[in-house]
Amino acid sequence: MVLKEYTKPLTLEEVKQPTFGPREVLLKVKAAGVCGTDLKIRDGLVPTKELPLIPGHEVAGVVAATGTEVEGFREGDEVLVSFYIPCNECRTCLSGRQTICERLQGRIGFEFDGGFAQYVAVPEICLIPKPQEISFRQAAVIPDALGTCYHALVRRAQVKNGDYLVVVGGGGGLGLHAIQIAKWLGAVVIGVDVAEEKLNLMKAYGADLVIDGAQDPSWSKTVTDYTRGLQADHVATFIAHQPSIDEGLKAVRKGGDLVLVAYREAVQFNALYGHLNEIDLLSTRAATKADIEACLKLVTEKKVEPVIGKAIHLSELNDGLQLIKDGNIKGRLVIDIE
Ligand SMILES: [Zn+2]
Ligand SMILES: [Zn+2]
Repeated sequence: MVLKEYTKPLTLEEVKQPTFGPREVLLKVKAAGVCGTDLKIRDGLVPTKELPLIPGHEVAGVVAATGTEVEGFREGDEVLVSFYIPCNECRTCLSGRQTICERLQGRIGFEFDGGFAQYVAVPEICLIPKPQEISFRQAAVIPDALGTCYHALVRRAQVKNGDYLVVVGGGGGLGLHAIQIAKWLGAVVIGVDVAEEKLNLMKAYGADLVIDGAQDPSWSKTVTDYTRGLQADHVATFIAHQPSIDEGLKAVRKGGDLVLVAYREAVQFNALYGHLNEIDLLSTRAATKADIEACLKLVTEKKVEPVIGKAIHLSELNDGLQLIKDGNIKGRLVIDIE
């Protein structure tokens, strides 16, 4: 599926098989996750290569051919893809923060053609072996929907056993994984969302308390009561919705942090309140390969379950993007590719 013009539907086309370099493999795509970020890509709201572009950054498949210098993988290997292509040599890479690499080569599905296709070229350094017991659909969901949550909670907020964590937008495709990862970490999890179905999902995936933000717009008070006045150590926002960010800030304890997982260019932060209470505002960017490998281990050990709401065919991608836009997916949307 090819994006030729921003804001327009993608078109299904026959394209040439991608060329691949000596340190890359040609991957036969088996499953690709669809994400809110793909909507941003379609609408030109995030940087990409010059169009046309084949999006798709959540990819799992089978190695179909290898470049001459590829050593660790061979034809037939089942893999998932870490979609950032870092230099692995700069100071941020050496400190383990490859998604903010100072010489980032790009991302598969953004600056390079991605996985909404039968084949995609992937550098060997981005490949992660897929265990047999994990399905391609599950594998496709891990790099972003789980990885981003893991990176935000473990690497950025450093959520610990016994911490109080509020997950705002906890009933969505990322939030349900954040809740599971937080429970694995031993946190007490308060999920905030709207609509009964999402509240029930948050409960089902382990939230200790769920709050309907529509019924209880001043929900920071409910958090204060539930924590017996202690308030939340961390509030992670999975929707870039100003009233939720404002309310979330009020729910953070002195010295706690507000983690902006969802983002857009302009959000307001009450810096006076932040100053008075030394609240850390944490930005977070996607997931490193190590984060994705850690998530794969959690899934393999059945500590976290990838939540797949719906699977569609490649030709149905435009309808799928609309479902995401309308918030009509429980968990993640995955494309099966033959
Ligand atoms: Zn994504
Ligand atoms: Zn780097």
